[in-house]
Amino acid sequence: MSDIIQLLPDHVANQIAAGEVVQRPASVVKELLENAIDAESTFIKLIIKESGKTLIQVIDNGKGMSVTDARLSFERHATSKIRSAEDLFDIHTKGFRGEALASIAAVAHFELKTKQVHDELGTQIDIQGSEIKTQDVIVTPNGTSVAIKNLFFNIPARRNFLKSNNVELRHILDEFHRVALAHPNIGFSMHHNGNELYNLPICNYRQRIVKIFGSKTNEKLVPVDETTEVLKVSGFVMKPEFAKKTRGEQFFFVNDRFIKSSYLNHAVNAAFEGLLREKTHASYFLFLEVDPKTIDVNIHPTKTEIKFEDEHTLYAILRSAVKHSLGQFSVAPVLDFDRDSNLDTPYNYAHKAVKTPMVEVDRTFNPFEEEERKPVSKIGASDFKGSSKGTSWESLYVDTKIETPSETVFSSVAFETDTVTSSMFDDDDQDLKQNTFQLHKKYIINTIKSGMLVINQQRAHERILYEDFLKNITVKEGVSQQLLFPICVDFSPKELDVLRSLKSHLIQTGFVFSKIEGHLEIVGVPANLEEANIPEVLEQLVYDAQYEVSDQSFSQSDMIAKSLAKSMAIKTGRKLTEQEQDHMIHSLFGCKEPNVTPCGKATFVTMRVDDLDKKFN
Ligand code: ADP
Ligand code: MG
Repeated sequence: MSDIIQLLPDHVANQIAAGEVVQRPASVVKELLENAIDAESTFIKLIIKESGKTLIQVIDNGKGMSVTDARLSFERHATSKIRSAEDLFDIHTKGFRGEALASIAAVAHFELKTKQVHDELGTQIDIQGSEIKTQDVIVTPNGTSVAIKNLFFNIPARRNFLKSNNVELRHILDEFHRVALAHPNIGFSMHHNGNELYNLPICNYRQRIVKIFGSKTNEKLVPVDETTEVLKVSGFVMKPEFAKKTRGEQFFFVNDRFIKSSYLNHAVNAAFEGLLREKTHASYFLFLEVDPKTIDVNIHPTKTEIKFEDEHTLYAILRSAVKHSLGQFSVAPVLDFDRDSNLDTPYNYAHKAVKTPMVEVDRTFNPFEEEERKPVSKIGASDFKGSSKGTSWESLYVDTKIETPSETVFSSVAFETDTVTSSMFDDDDQDLKQNTFQLHKKYIINTIKSGMLVINQQRAHERILYEDFLKNITVKEGVSQQLLFPICVDFSPKELDVLRSLKSHLIQTGFVFSKIEGHLEIVGVPANLEEANIPEVLEQLVYDAQYEVSDQSFSQSDMIAKSLAKSMAIKTGRKLTEQEQDHMIHSLFGCKEPNVTPCGKATFVTMRVDDLDKKFN
């Protein structure tokens, strides 16, 4: 048989390599910013158009390149940063693989302008899909400017794979933040579609964090500082009371390089043990310095994962450093490190007032009395019902029904229900009431003509709320509930931008904002939103708006309805009264698509009597 193996041409090899290095516009941003830092720049300007789909440009005032270097920089494995294999284990620069420029140039239109300080004139090189189109001598400032246009112009599949502009911009901002946070000694600016989003002068770490995440951040930061022989940790953790439900601000930098490490994240969380509310995550900005010889950064093409020589020691040091800071700044009840932390009062309980146990006695009880009287337990239950009236669930199905006129959305849903479900349920309405019960605080069971209906309470409520919100946004404004006192929720400037872009839709759902510039002040919320849950619901919304809108086919209103429905739906574990169970069933079957959640998961299943019969055979 003849030989069949051949070497791939360079441009094909480059395109394959690009698959690893250049996943989306944000990857290009990261590589270019890192090159500018390696070039010892003191000011770096990032210019983006259409979330990087049409332009990504990085201009630096670094050391620039000679004509020959400029030409060589696009070759694969061309780097000025290492010379031998040993150097791989003593990396002091961001780059060293020499493949970023080659990869990017393989999948975009590439324009490089560069000049070294001691040269009169600079060099311009234009490349399209690995092919050099022109090379000129030009007049240009000291430093380098790299402009990437039409990313993935020659790989349509890749281009189509890109997410909406919102999502791609989000990823770019994430990369920008990571680089800017790690280098407060460098000034940065960032422009998107002609607007300046950031202008960050040279400053210290704390100022950089505050400049990026908003002035309110300052008071939330607790400094961490610990130097040992193997590791120096500095930076900040956020006070536990500001922990968020979404994993927003978690940053590890090792030798000024942003890295992801679930192991180190675990160490920080361990230090926060007992201090965080349920399902919230600690925020942190931690800078670790280790001897470059003890880490391997070359295990992943994007270099965001690294291997440590002695992970266990780092874990222990990091954990105690964070714990120490939390203790020192009296954030935590634990100051004494030798104590068994299991013996400490969990934070949630530490500030709780002592409550005297009470014994309930039914003073009207007379064992000889013949006539019907209410048992003690029943009184307790009705009391409870009264007190829980303000909860989101109750207000949706009870309060609104009483207080709003009959043509409100809720009532109309209930009205539709009757017609839609009448054929499915047993004819006798009374039957339906009696035959409903809750299983494991998760499912609502109901008898239907053919057998049994099992509804997942959380998912069903999500569907109901989703359709309600969608109606509010698109057809008819939702009912707003005025807050007694305005509520302020902390958001960074960029998060406020996101909220502003959603403002008109949010108003339709019932939100009323008295201030949305500088900080957020809310005076009204959708009728079924509990006051205590407002920050969490909005945080989730901002997060979803940034990360979850997968493509343009899902409109902004759809995203908002989905997000609000998800975070406001009553959850598994919530006990429902019979009346609530009934409402749930009616409202669910009043929905346009009762079978599935907005994300397509089943809301209920049915089990036929025949099927049950078979099981008894
Ligand atoms: P790496 O950064 O891994 O060395 P790159 O492909 O990113 O590989 O860059 C190749 C080379 O081009 C670098 O080693 C550097 O010498 C040069 N270079 C790239 N960008 C710049 C810049 N902004 N300023 C000066 N030199 C640069
Ligand atoms: Mg590089």
